[in-house]
Amino acid sequence: MELDQLRQQALAELNAVEDEAGLRSWNSHYLGKSGALTQALKRVGQLPPEERPGYGQQVNALKEALLAAYERKKQQLHEQEIARSLAAQALDVTLPGRPVLRGRLHPATQVMRDILAIFAELGFQVYRSREVEDDLTNFELLNMPPHHPARDLWDTFHTTTPGILLRTHTSPGQIHVMRQYCPRPIRVVLPGMCYRYEQITARSEIQFQQVEGLAIGESISLADLIGTLQTFAQRFFGGQRRLRIRNSYFPFTEPSVEVDVDCILCQAGSAADTRAAEPSGPSSPCTLCKGTGWLEILGAGMVHPVVLRNGGYDPDRFQGFAFGMGPQRMAMLKYAIHDIRLFWGNDLRFLEQF
Ligand SMILES: [Zn+2]
Repeated sequence: MELDQLRQQALAELNAVEDEAGLRSWNSHYLGKSGALTQALKRVGQLPPEERPGYGQQVNALKEALLAAYERKKQQLHEQEIARSLAAQALDVTLPGRPVLRGRLHPATQVMRDILAIFAELGFQVYRSREVEDDLTNFELLNMPPHHPARDLWDTFHTTTPGILLRTHTSPGQIHVMRQYCPRPIRVVLPGMCYRYEQITARSEIQFQQVEGLAIGESISLADLIGTLQTFAQRFFGGQRRLRIRNSYFPFTEPSVEVDVDCILCQAGSAADTRAAEPSGPSSPCTLCKGTGWLEILGAGMVHPVVLRNGGYDPDRFQGFAFGMGPQRMAMLKYAIHDIRLFWGNDLRFLEQF
């Protein structure tokens, strides 16, 4: 009679349990170490010996029944919990999706590709050269022996290995390509990163890209150089660009020139040459050319006989022209960017504009 009452009471209470905490408390009350069933088993000793086996079996059967009921209830609560969380976090499939951010090429890469594509159409192949150079190739073979004053043009990153440095310009690539292809004609562009130990300002960085051009053959003249650069300037900046050639000095070219293009913003350079300067509205000078009308774009010249000879070519038979430009500077002019540090600053507000 007592066990029947216990069974009914336990099942009724289990039925009323609503959460995990209630289930735990029910479990310890009936099935725990000092729970009701344990107490019931202890009473076996008070019974007459002939009744003990029957009573023990009944208690054990009750214990198994309650355990099974407990497991069922536990499973039921678990399923209720899943159903509740599904209802609470219902998925609204009609909401618009989150846009995926699309990657794009870095402006320095875009401009580099624009430049290389133009020279590819003019028949120039890309030649990649090493960024870690020796003193011999970076300076000496380019007509800058030790203690030559032209070495003072740049402060150089030297490595801990004597005579090994980070190239200060792409020109040592000229030596590599000449020695590889001599005595065949050459028409290459040499793009890549250069390094100079300089103060970082809006106009100079310790690392920057350069594109070098080199053409070598048996009948190459300064006119070929100017024609090539004229075509490049028109394709890169657009319109009927005009060039201005000024005398300059580089140790590895003779003669050497600086090349300017007429300002793409105010076009004052070309206007001044063709007609009297017109009064053009407010007289504040153009921000791009500072009112000069011309933009400095690159240095160039005819390859110095010493450099030709160091590359394996006979300067009495071969001539060549070379030029070097900074893609970052070209991009700054083309897109009116005022600070070269933006290229390597990883600021998305800048990068996303390209
Ligand atoms: Zn201007």
